[in-house]
Amino acid sequence: MKTKISVGVLGIQGDIEENKTVAQEALNRSNVKGNVKFVRYAEEIEKIDGLILPGGESTVISTLATIQGGILHTIKRRIAEGMPVLGTCAGMIMLAKRAYDRVVGETRQQLLSNLDIVVERNAFGRQDDSFEAKLSIPILGKNNKFFKGVFIRAPIVIEVGAAVDIIAKFNNRIVGVRQGNIIGTSFHPELSDDDRIHRQFIKTVLDCKRHKGAQQI
Ligand code: GLN
Repeated sequence: MKTKISVGVLGIQGDIEENKTVAQEALNRSNVKGNVKFVRYAEEIEKIDGLILPGGESTVISTLATIQGGILHTIKRRIAEGMPVLGTCAGMIMLAKRAYDRVVGETRQQLLSNLDIVVERNAFGRQDDSFEAKLSIPILGKNNKFFKGVFIRAPIVIEVGAAVDIIAKFNNRIVGVRQGNIIGTSFHPELSDDDRIHRQFIKTVLDCKRHKGAQQI
């Protein structure tokens, strides 16, 4: 029987539609059975096999998520239990252990802390300083054509723990990381017309579910 997966997109704020669309396309193109839906409540987060934390504004997302009955605790626990997660831009900030901003210093926002990294928010400047750059991301396969990185008030990763692999750099700054089933990017793969990062994530979700299924037999 073909494994079916359920992917959630945290549907609170940010480019949630774009992530849902690309994830659905990635699912179809990878010929994987399953669905992608917005999740907003703890009961929904309990049932999914993988989660996408979209780009947007991390302080807004975590504040609203906190008001929403403490769903951050549920997300944090499920990731700690092994649920794959993809965090893009604000989503990666939410996954970090610590976040700071050159202007305001340590940002006292609620973070999930599952990903052993420290990030600097808005490291390339403000909205006006948004840009695109060609990135080389070897984990996307041998026939590695550049990935168009879309950077919008993007963070950079300034410290990584021992368990963290660096998967992308731009001008010697870390803009993509992976730690086990957690992938984080400073840029927005949902805005690139390129579903390779989402496909990589779908593959992780599928492998993780198959592995779990095999353990239960
Ligand atoms: N600067 C935003 C934050 O700190 C992230 C921007 C984005 O997701 N495009 O949350």
